[in-house]
Amino acid sequence: MMGVLGKVRHGLGFHTGEWAFDTPTSCAQTRRCTGCPDVETRVRHEISDWVLRLPRKANACTRERVCRRCAMVETDQVHVFAWYYREEAPPGPDIAESFAALPDPTDRRHRCRQLSICEFCYATKHDQRTHHQWGSATPAFNGEQEYRCRRCGRTKRTPSPFNNQPGAFPGQGLGQGPGQTPGQGLGQ
Ligand SMILES: [Zn+2]
Ligand SMILES: [Zn+2]
Ligand SMILES: [Zn+2]
Ligand SMILES: [Zn+2]
Repeated sequence: MMGVLGKVRHGLGFHTGEWAFDTPTSCAQTRRCTGCPDVETRVRHEISDWVLRLPRKANACTRERVCRRCAMVETDQVHVFAWYYREEAPPGPDIAESFAALPDPTDRRHRCRQLSICEFCYATKHDQRTHHQWGSATPAFNGEQEYRCRRCGRTKRTPSPFNNQPGAFPGQGLGQGPGQTPGQGLGQ
């Protein structure tokens, strides 16, 4: 019967009727089913695009979006991270702390450590890396090229183009071992 079918169908969520906002300044909506006693509710915001809360030059990376109906505000952070050496880093307590956790800067070998810092608000992700400043190539032993880091003095060499690999002959088979005779059938 239709009544039974209708009830089953509504039980699965196929209610009918129009959604209406509860009040002009609320985003809560209610739908009273026209076919059964069920009442459903949901929330439908009318959300704006993201906009920066303050201009970048104000050292702020918070953006926000608002709902045009209710007063809801969402915020998040949109940093622009870049790598900095210690002596180039912008000021900031968090940054000083992060650099303090790195190896001793007075040891020249550690001068190439960099931290990831936001260019605008100076937030740091605490990511670090080593980034050398290689000088120009100078000839080294055996046709290799040597590069020296202008900051920390570390050197690296490119492989020599004349470097002959010791001849590596592919291993030769020693001939066939005694052949394994496949199992013989039990007679023809
Ligand atoms: Zn219904
Ligand atoms: Zn809303
Ligand atoms: Zn930022
Ligand atoms: Zn270096």
